[in-house]
Amino acid sequence: MKVAMVSEHASPLATLGGVDAGGQNVHVAALAGALADRGHDVVVYTRADSSDLPPRVQMGPGVAVDHVPAGPAVQVAKDDLLPYMGEFADVLAMRWRADPPDVVHAHFWMSGVASINAAATCGVSVLQTFHALGTVKRRWQGDADTSPAARIELERHVACAASRIIATCTDEVAELSAMGVPVGHVDVVPCGVDLSLFTPAAGPARPQRRPPRLLIVGRLVPRKGVEEAIRALALIPDAELVVVGGPGADELDQDPEVVRLRQVMAECGVAQRVRLTGHLPHEDLPAMIRSSDVLLAVPWYEPFGITALEAMACGVPVVASAVGGMLDTVVPGVTGLLAASRDPDSIAAAIEELLSDEHRRAAMGRAGAERVRRYYGWEQVAERTEESYARALRHQPVSSPQRVLR
Ligand code: UDP
Repeated sequence: MKVAMVSEHASPLATLGGVDAGGQNVHVAALAGALADRGHDVVVYTRADSSDLPPRVQMGPGVAVDHVPAGPAVQVAKDDLLPYMGEFADVLAMRWRADPPDVVHAHFWMSGVASINAAATCGVSVLQTFHALGTVKRRWQGDADTSPAARIELERHVACAASRIIATCTDEVAELSAMGVPVGHVDVVPCGVDLSLFTPAAGPARPQRRPPRLLIVGRLVPRKGVEEAIRALALIPDAELVVVGGPGADELDQDPEVVRLRQVMAECGVAQRVRLTGHLPHEDLPAMIRSSDVLLAVPWYEPFGITALEAMACGVPVVASAVGGMLDTVVPGVTGLLAASRDPDSIAAAIEELLSDEHRRAAMGRAGAERVRRYYGWEQVAERTEESYARALRHQPVSSPQRVLR
């Protein structure tokens, strides 16, 4: 199949860990590569956010990245990108009329808006992965949600106009259903893990680290729960917390979220026991994860939560919030423990339970690694995505989808 993947803000070539660069970038890069490995021809369309970018980059065999000129050729926060989606759609429509793909797979709601609009001019099927839903974001972030006002309504239109939705977890299906989307339209296909990169430690289990190390990896935005992890640490006197993500180490002092988190550390009296590393290259993460005793994935809400899987793949047990994708990926009591989200007491109790039992931790690490290998390799994820594409093609709409913008 000729697959057009659309990922407006999240380039598969971007550096990870910044405010807007995380799981979606990893997902699009890895899924495109895995589909190409299965013989498909993939072009990823992403917005050109620098004037230095070549129009097209060959990312690997069977995967090209097309830099779409839409809006200024500089970085723009994703919540400010909607005004450029009309232009983005026009470029897609031009490309697809000249060389029609078999399927379009849009990632994030604005890619869906652009893809549905472009597809309306050339009649190809669009599959949609939301990665995050505006309704959920609004529920948790309230007035702090900087998404465009039209997001929730446009998301509903995209969900109904797309041939199929690929949800990344079961919880998302319930959210889509509450939005009025027919669940028969939805396939659940999880995100995956690079099993050649994220591997368990070789050799015998290392002795208990002193002090025990807790690790949290992710973008430094409040909803990722770093504040709650710091408050949980204050309840565990003998552990250290390493926080990976955010800007590079030399820019941490200027980062407003870092300034806020340092205030929380000082208030809790744990500044000496928390280390912020800043962004680390993806390739360095497995060693960092293996050096820790427990990985914390404790966001307020989470469409998927790749870091929990990455830890399991490395044989490290997880304390995760009982939300979103982690309800599917983490098996409580087997590969880690679930805690109430935004609840430092509950997070601390789960951490203490794991730190108190070295053998249980090791057993959970083994079970996590086995679970990830069985269900979450990109090969399996690509195969299930391909099945969803085939389903969409079988039920191709007679008419082109309706435009949802302008
Ligand atoms: N990541 C990274 N370096 C960093 C911070 C994060 O490589 O400094 C990666 C991390 O390994 C994971 C992704 O960024 O693959 C974050 O994905 P997740 O699903 O946890 O969060 P999202 O960013 O999608 O909300």
